[in-house]
Amino acid sequence: MKTGKVYLVGAGPGDIELLTLKAVRALGIADVVLIDDLVNREVLQFVRADARVVEVGKRGGCASTPQAFIERLMIGEAGAGRIVARVKGGDPFVFGRGGEEVQALRAAGVEAEVISGITSGMAAAAALGIPVTHRDCARGVTLLTGHTRNGAEPNWKALAQGGTTLVIYMGASRLAMIVAELLAAGMPSRTPAAMVQNATLPSQRSVISDLRSLPTAVANAGLGSPAIVVIGEVARLAAQTAAACFESLDSRVRGNDKLVFEPKRERRG
Ligand code: SAH
Repeated sequence: MKTGKVYLVGAGPGDIELLTLKAVRALGIADVVLIDDLVNREVLQFVRADARVVEVGKRGGCASTPQAFIERLMIGEAGAGRIVARVKGGDPFVFGRGGEEVQALRAAGVEAEVISGITSGMAAAAALGIPVTHRDCARGVTLLTGHTRNGAEPNWKALAQGGTTLVIYMGASRLAMIVAELLAAGMPSRTPAAMVQNATLPSQRSVISDLRSLPTAVANAGLGSPAIVVIGEVARLAAQTAAACFESLDSRVRGNDKLVFEPKRERRG
């Protein structure tokens, strides 16, 4: 008897070229593909023509596919001997419910394998030339969500004074409140800060400001979800790092200069 299996596949932040080779292989062998709404539909080019593709998006506030239904579907399909690719944006284990799904699959006796993806927080910072750690000014990086399940608040004081770069997912709609909490907890108002929407996609847009001015700068630019907020001294390095990248590019890759600042305008069909 054929044994089924579920691959939890990280599709990366958006740019199709940031998909891993392992992800491409899993997509190519899957009988059933469950695809989240933040995933670039270009990934479907790697899916078999006879595979069943199920859209299971659940964008904040909109009509969504209940988590229990998704888990039942995966368990049912794998139980029937099929290979399932559950494709998620970024990395499956970073705010992607990958942990919950692996627990549910294991409890049902279904084999699950996680295929890591490039998480949008890292990719969004890099897209602006911001290194999330730097020996001179950030000894670590903290990934956090601006949107919690039960409204529980993080320890703002620890975040404001911890000296790590803050990378905030799902923070666009609560940006003003997040900034107010960090200021109240003692983070200097001039701390460099940036927000990136649609990182690594042709529609990428961003603002770089300081902590106090970020909400106004974001509102003026009309930026919204999905976006990553990066707060910390490293954000000051954005332009500097990009300039350094330019200087170090040799003539062979200079044709791609624009990739450092702007996403590609044209994509393969
Ligand atoms: N597992 C995903 C995160 C899922 S939570 C990962 O590792 O990236 C969804 C949040 O991810 C969005 O609200 C947004 O904050 C962020 N996000 C995903 N793709 C993004 C992109 N291309 N640009 C900016 N933010 C993105």
